[in-house]
Amino acid sequence: MNAEILTIGDELLIGQTVDTNSAWIGKNLAQYGIQVSRKTAISDSEAEIISAVNEAFQRVDFLMITGGLGPTKDDITKKTLAKLYQCGFRRDETVTAHLENIFARRGRQLLEINKQQADVPEICEVLANEVGTAPGMWFDQNGKVLVSMPGVPNEMMHIMENRVFQRIKNRFKTPEILHYTAVTIGVPESLLSKQLETFELSLPPHIKLAYLPALNTVKLRLSGQSDNAQILESEMKGFFEKMCETCGESVFTKEDISPVKYIARLLIRHNIKITLAESCTGGYIANQLVTEPGISKVFNGSIISYANEIKHNELGVPEDVFRTEGAVSETCARYMCEAALKKFGADIAVSTTGIAGPGGATAEKPVGLVYVGIATKNGSHVKKYHLFGTREQFMQRTANCVMALLKDLLKTEFNTL
Ligand code: AMP
Ligand code: MG
Repeated sequence: MNAEILTIGDELLIGQTVDTNSAWIGKNLAQYGIQVSRKTAISDSEAEIISAVNEAFQRVDFLMITGGLGPTKDDITKKTLAKLYQCGFRRDETVTAHLENIFARRGRQLLEINKQQADVPEICEVLANEVGTAPGMWFDQNGKVLVSMPGVPNEMMHIMENRVFQRIKNRFKTPEILHYTAVTIGVPESLLSKQLETFELSLPPHIKLAYLPALNTVKLRLSGQSDNAQILESEMKGFFEKMCETCGESVFTKEDISPVKYIARLLIRHNIKITLAESCTGGYIANQLVTEPGISKVFNGSIISYANEIKHNELGVPEDVFRTEGAVSETCARYMCEAALKKFGADIAVSTTGIAGPGGATAEKPVGLVYVGIATKNGSHVKKYHLFGTREQFMQRTANCVMALLKDLLKTEFNTL
């Protein structure tokens, strides 16, 4: 079954807000076997809303809308929908009680403009919104379903998760959909597709392989559709294992999670303490690690040794290393990780030193050159990479390379896999 998404808001069209809602909705509807065949972004204009809804309903029976539900005059979606369905408004008691409750808790006076958020088109079913003031609305008329939700992402997600998905299951006959995802690092998409050529040809029509490249990672997602969940699951498992086997060492994880999350969880689970001495990544890797809850168990701190002076004073990199080989060198990376290991009493220390660009390059040391050092009680080693991209992408790529190195290390020295 197909659906369309309509995002409403002037801010989306002038680039002030990036439309993340439709990406989230598309991804999540896919889990219910609903394919988004088109998404449209329009301004807060009555004429645009009416024509977009009418046009969408000529193509599909299910339309998801976000945006335009705020209490201010610029938000006109609710009023326009009532006009479209040619119905009046009613004040919903449950929404009124909810509004009174939140305004009392916040110590704010409930004004008439706020009370009006409880006014909904008579013919819709209210989708309660516990995390905001504007309720969602479900219209089901003449075989066509329209869902209208606030633009605020977390409110939209809350309504989808708590109200909409269950209603979709009850209202539509949706097939079982399964996705299995593996993440690879450091292998270009074109090479992977060559490796997987025969495998791809062996897939039945109801199972598809998608390549999702981002920086130096590629996600390989197998998606299958069937009316029989059990058969599909065993079929998919078989194909997924075959796919991972074909890619061999290129597969970083068989879960749909970021490399850093995967490593952070592994470190926490096995209580392996990590630290970092970051130069070119300026704390980026530490920042990524601390996004994982529970990381404090294995991460007590790290050092951003951006200037040579800090590399020397805090990590003991000898000054003649800077003069002879330079700060972007194997020797410097080795000193940095070995010193950090001792300083922070960690099991693993990682160092990064490289040229993020756009300046600072020489003939021997181009932009994108980076050395990653890894030290453990068994010694240290350094790997050299040539990466590319903006400064931000350079850091993200470096972080992914670090995660790939850590995965090997955790396997070989710590027996964690
Ligand atoms: P609204 O329901 O129009 O009051 O939307 C409230 C806020 O949600 C806006 O100020 C935007 O910042 C945000 N928003 C609206 N539409 C989207 C969207 N499609 N993706 C992400 N954020 C959005
Ligand atoms: Mg708006």
